Amino acid sequence: MEKGPPPQNMPAPPYPGGPYPPGPGQAYPPPPVHPQAAAYQYAPQQPHVGQPVVVMQQQLPTDSPGSMLCPHCQSTVVTRVEHKNGLLTWLICGAMGLFLCWPCCWIPFCIDSCKDVEHCCPNCNNVVHIHKRI
Ligand SMILES: [Zn+2]
Repeated sequence: MEKGPPPQNMPAPPYPGGPYPPGPGQAYPPPPVHPQAAAYQYAPQQPHVGQPVVVMQQQLPTDSPGSMLCPHCQSTVVTRVEHKNGLLTWLICGAMGLFLCWPCCWIPFCIDSCKDVEHCCPNCNNVVHIHKRI
């Protein structure tokens, strides 16, 4: 394989006219710069800060019947609550057993505030929300 000679970079020819000072009639005056206008142009624009979007979040009822939208029948109902034995119920029962109060283990099963609350829809009888203690 024969490689051709590398391309030779020819030096740029000298400027024919050479630098010459512009005559008085050829000099273009620079455009007038208004400092105030320039400053106004480069002033940072204030971003338009709108009102924060408030997302209306449905407040779920906790341990008492509350009004909420049933996802099953798509109607706003006042829920019917049922208390179910939840994790907290069994934890209290276990704690009672650990502290040798085992005859009292049944107490949390009789106290509604120790149980999970199941919210049912009175229209369609579906469970719409379960409020867990833990
Ligand atoms: Zn419903």
